[in-house]
Amino acid sequence: MNYRDKVTIITGGTKGIGEGCVRVFVDAGSRVAFCARNQDEGDRVSAELNTRGDAYFIKCNVSKTREIENLIAQTVEKFGRIDCLINNAGWHPPHKPIDDFSVEEFRDLLDLNLVSIFSACKFALPHLRKTQGNIINMSSLVGRMGQLHATTYVATKGAITAFTKALAIDEAIHGVRVNSVSPGNIYTPLWQEGIDASDDPEATLAEGNAAQHLGRMGTAEEAGRLCLFIAAEATFTTGVDHVLSGGAEIGYGRKSRIE
Ligand code: NAP
Repeated sequence: MNYRDKVTIITGGTKGIGEGCVRVFVDAGSRVAFCARNQDEGDRVSAELNTRGDAYFIKCNVSKTREIENLIAQTVEKFGRIDCLINNAGWHPPHKPIDDFSVEEFRDLLDLNLVSIFSACKFALPHLRKTQGNIINMSSLVGRMGQLHATTYVATKGAITAFTKALAIDEAIHGVRVNSVSPGNIYTPLWQEGIDASDDPEATLAEGNAAQHLGRMGTAEEAGRLCLFIAAEATFTTGVDHVLSGGAEIGYGRKSRIE
């Protein structure tokens, strides 16, 4: 797949799925602007990738509207255009019942996982309309399935999928495609955080692998390759939620305890 002469913005590009996207898009010939909060991590990724392509790190906390505005402006200043925006930055808080989440925690997560995507789309669209570009929003399989002790996260992800469809309708007239990707389990530093926080890390990793019919978690590179396909090849696809799950959601299975 080839994305030469294109410019891509990827949020949360220093680790996990975002880093996978940065690597795949750079290798496809795209010039890439990517962001995260940690400057050193950004420098590490760009130093490695600039030996074989164009990876430009911009420090940005997507929970801050002004910093998102700056991310878009600096990208256009550096590269002159935007062809693809991948809204990937997000977080899954530790699992707990609703009683243990504060309203404030939910508001903060909405800002990070959802409002940031609305803002990045809003600021990037004037540029994407000029290039008839596309947007890819990182949602989650659990946004359509639910997940134990994850009310706040699941709510943000369900909203991303719904927002994507509504924006795809509005932007079709401008030739801009808007899609979402819903990963199941992709092995990333975020997943490792969950393993480390569990009572039995080995069992948690084994459960994570066994949740897929394919018997393993996906890789960040596989997520990047799906995003590249949507951006470069899937030119008749808009308003679609692309599931990347190794078959985690298919088949009928036990959902409650057998006494
Ligand atoms: P990860 O390993 O924790 O990586 C997250 C990336 O986002 C890092 O580069 C991080 O860098 C950056 N980031 C976090 N908060 C940020 C902020 N406020 N502003 C800017 N950048 C920020 O996470 P991941 O597993 O790759 O997940 C990426 C996305 O995929 C998330 O939206 C997640 O919900 C979704 N997802 C993941 C899975 C999975 O199984 N891994 C499944 C479904 C959906 P800094 O910390 O330096 O900012």
